[in-house]
Amino acid sequence: MCKKKEPIKIICHNCGSEFFVLPWRKHKAKYCCRKCLNEVQGRSMVEYHKTHNPRTIKKVCKNHFCKKEFIVTSKGLDRKFCCTECFRYSTSLEYKERRKKEKVVKNITTINKIWSL
Ligand SMILES: [Zn+2]
Ligand SMILES: [Zn+2]
Repeated sequence: MCKKKEPIKIICHNCGSEFFVLPWRKHKAKYCCRKCLNEVQGRSMVEYHKTHNPRTIKKVCKNHFCKKEFIVTSKGLDRKFCCTECFRYSTSLEYKERRKKEKVVKNITTINKIWSL
């Protein structure tokens, strides 16, 4: 007697939609389509890099007017700027002037706040 091979219903691990596979693929099939598989693999690559590269550190650019986040590896732990442009800019006179002006503006706004209370 030959058992009929009924397709088995499986729920896609990515999008949650139901699909059918032959019983022998039951443990292999996790995703309804290639797209879902690729999506998951793409995501897991990102996760992999997150968890397996603990030496990479997220830093914030010291350039006050940039403040962009950037990733450094163990080699660049003392990096303070996202790019050489920012580094150069931070040492420029213009940068210092801008910072000075900004502080003045901040002080004025705090004074105004105090007065308006
Ligand atoms: Zn799917
Ligand atoms: Zn920057």
